Amino acid sequence: MSGPTVWKTPAEVRAWVRSVQQRGQRIALVPTMGFLHDGHLSLMREGARRADVVVASIFVNPMQFGPKEDLSSYPRDTEGDLARCASAGVVGVYMPEPSTMYPPGFQTAVLVEQVSQGLDGEKRPGHFRGVATVVAKLLALFRPDVALFGEKDYQQLQVIARLNADLELGAQIVGMPTIREPDGLAMSSRNSYLGPDERRRALGLSRGLFAAQALAAKGEADVARLVAVIRAELAAVQAREDYVEICDARSLVKLTQLEKGSPARVLVAAFMGTTRLIDNVALTLG
Ligand code: AMP
Repeated sequence: MSGPTVWKTPAEVRAWVRSVQQRGQRIALVPTMGFLHDGHLSLMREGARRADVVVASIFVNPMQFGPKEDLSSYPRDTEGDLARCASAGVVGVYMPEPSTMYPPGFQTAVLVEQVSQGLDGEKRPGHFRGVATVVAKLLALFRPDVALFGEKDYQQLQVIARLNADLELGAQIVGMPTIREPDGLAMSSRNSYLGPDERRRALGLSRGLFAAQALAAKGEADVARLVAVIRAELAAVQAREDYVEICDARSLVKLTQLEKGSPARVLVAAFMGTTRLIDNVALTLG
């Protein structure tokens, strides 16, 4: 199997996009930071179903990492990633250097106001400014018909849907369900940081979320009680909570009570040792 074409510069991408558009073909784009797992591949496979050609980007975006975060240790596996992309039908991968994405003199940023506040926006200052800027650049460069993102990064998905609409970038933004390990842990490139004991204890996150989801389905509408269930699971595995919140599924405004017919989302961020994990599930009041 011949691998995907690798593009290193925006000029190469632009030339390819022009030729694809001339053929009248639809483009699907899957932006990633690499170290690809089945979650990423599910986005690519769905892209292949929804468009004529699917492409990906692999870029560990310095602009979305805080000064004390894991930019320098973020896991990388270019050869493996290209093989995985090929297996999912990806025809091209954009892998720019940071100095290509942000050349000397770069000074533009995209700020998505409300939905970037709270949750990861509060705990990781500047994070969504970096995400929104790089994704806006990628959408402007590829002009995809469809761009696919995971619900695993639920707030990020809402930020991207907002910027795509506000900047009239014209992509259909598709949110895809979280792919999990057989035991329930949400797949993440950062799971590779976990030692065996931390990996076992990391299950506390999804266990707590699913317990809250089941309680809500049985009629528990009180947010404080649902949050307490999750906190108990985090405490049981000695995970250090960064946040546990229940929000309106679209606006991400905090809720105190679930309402029938109003989709809600419960989101958690917690540290297992030094590794920060996030996860979330839908809540439907039964
Ligand atoms: P990342 O490489 O972590 O920036 O993720 C790239 C894309 O893959 C984002 O849209 C993520 O939300 C998505 N993604 C990451 N993990 C998962 C997962 N377990 N299931 C589905 N999508 C995921």
